[in-house]
Amino acid sequence: LAKRSSHNHFQFYVASIDKQIRERKQLEKDLASALVNHEFHLVYQPQINLSNKQVIGAEALLRWEHPEKGLVPPDYFIPVAEANGSIVEIGQWVLDQACWQAARWASEGKSLRVAVNLSAVQLRQESIVEDILGALDRHHLPAALLELEVTETSFMTNMADAIRKLNQLQQAGIVISVDDFGTGYSSLTYLKKMPVHSLKIDKQFIRDLLVNEEDTRIANIIIDLGRSLKLKVIAEGVETAEQEAYLTRRGCDIGQGYFFSKPVPPRDFESFLKTFHRNIVENNT
Ligand code: C2E
Ligand code: MG
Ligand code: MG
Ligand code: MG
Repeated sequence: LAKRSSHNHFQFYVASIDKQIRERKQLEKDLASALVNHEFHLVYQPQINLSNKQVIGAEALLRWEHPEKGLVPPDYFIPVAEANGSIVEIGQWVLDQACWQAARWASEGKSLRVAVNLSAVQLRQESIVEDILGALDRHHLPAALLELEVTETSFMTNMADAIRKLNQLQQAGIVISVDDFGTGYSSLTYLKKMPVHSLKIDKQFIRDLLVNEEDTRIANIIIDLGRSLKLKVIAEGVETAEQEAYLTRRGCDIGQGYFFSKPVPPRDFESFLKTFHRNIVENNT
């Protein structure tokens, strides 16, 4: 009986791997047509200067509206797009769209810096610097209004190559930040060599910031590290007034999270700007 059930279990296992492979292939196929079928759009999440509560910018986040499956989370499809290389083309679309939006906001007098996530795979492309500068040019966007979020892992495969490219981008006036700081290899040597402007404390440390002492200490260390290296520190995943108050008091520069706003389409972002500003003015009078 035992033998028989383990045999069944094995068959079940094979069947489930087979199913996973088929699902993955289907996902790759769907991903390949998503761009031409206009299934992608960007949503924007405000970044707030904690000391004066001004909205200083927004992170652009990719959304994929699958015709049958509905919204597919980026944590699910980005790794697939990175593995098969399609992130290069998708990422270029994201850059173009985000630069267009930032330029449009600037032309309306809203000077917001838009942050775009740059995949390690994109950074490895030989043409990446030209591609990014090209997007700025096409939309007449001042470089200072574009921020690129890179993760620590992007630096690891070829540090010299990453330094060269990020230096060129930084010299052009683009702002570079380290995303998900604290979750990667966190080698401090690269911070010395990289033209980094800010560190983003990963949301996993913010979630239980006021509950878990270890998370409090990690957040504090990153804030202090930022201060001593003269880097801005951004907390992502700020969900409560208590977290916001703590981070502000502790000297964290910028906050981003559901407490302020979820990532939203441009129109809703513009409404957010109006009401958020009005609330600040009212609270101060
Ligand atoms: P990320 O760059 O670290 O982005 C922050 C994630 O945290 C976003 O998830 C955002 O919606 C979420 N978030 C923001 N505030 C809160 C909060 O208060 N609570 C919680 N629980 N979550 C919050 P999202 O949009 O699902 O994106 C997930 C990841 O997918 C991003 O993490 C980024 O690594 C990747 N991604 C998204 N868009 C792009 C893109 O255009 N290009 C690339 N290469 N990666 C992208
Ligand atoms: Mg990010
Ligand atoms: Mg992040
Ligand atoms: Mg993250």
